Amino acid sequence: MGYNVAIDGPAGAGKSTVAKRVAKELGYVYVDTGAMYRALAVFFLKQGLKPEDTEKIAEVCKNAEVSIGYENGVQQVYLNGENVTGQLREEAVGNMASVSSAIGAVRAQLLELQRELARTKDVVMDGRDIGTNILPNADVKVYLTASVETRAKRRYLELQEKGVACDLQEIAHDIEERDTRDMNREIAPLKQAEDAVYLDSSAMTIDEVVDAIKALCK
Ligand code: C5P
Repeated sequence: MGYNVAIDGPAGAGKSTVAKRVAKELGYVYVDTGAMYRALAVFFLKQGLKPEDTEKIAEVCKNAEVSIGYENGVQQVYLNGENVTGQLREEAVGNMASVSSAIGAVRAQLLELQRELARTKDVVMDGRDIGTNILPNADVKVYLTASVETRAKRRYLELQEKGVACDLQEIAHDIEERDTRDMNREIAPLKQAEDAVYLDSSAMTIDEVVDAIKALCK
């Protein structure tokens, strides 16, 4: 069994930035489970499906095999053998992932892959149900969140830096919708595990969050 650090929380709380840094500084492997849901979303979109086609999504998802590998320490995601890492951050992919991840068959498809990685390696794994469902016996559990305003502002600045036109109100609205879907779905909803440490990063720097999590580790 590897040493397992589980970081859950809503979209935009800074999980991936922080988890990557913690993993690097501790010499652990960073596992981005959102990227796996996004890879399945790429598959559904390639099949011409829309987020509302839930029955069809449940039916075809068994034809999608997701695996991960590492290139220079950076996680790569493969969909039926093809590296789809470059497609995962597209807007349509994020929307599809946010909706399709509520479907039981979709979650079941990724469960073993996530557990297997944690069994064999020391990992920092981030997602929505890692501490509650995937790794209930994780050595360290963190619930990382921030206010909607903070998360929207961070996303806005990130997009602006990339030269993408965007609207702060729209981003905040989108974040709230994603939170609602993640927290209210029937299967593995986003919630703080009873034994997770709650961290609100609204008024914290990245360094402070990284240090707080590292201090919880052995
Ligand atoms: O974290 P990220 O935005 O990349 O995740 C994409 C989508 O996958 C999220 O909107 C969330 O609904 C879903 N997800 C999930 N469980 C996880 C990780 C992500 O349901 N462990």
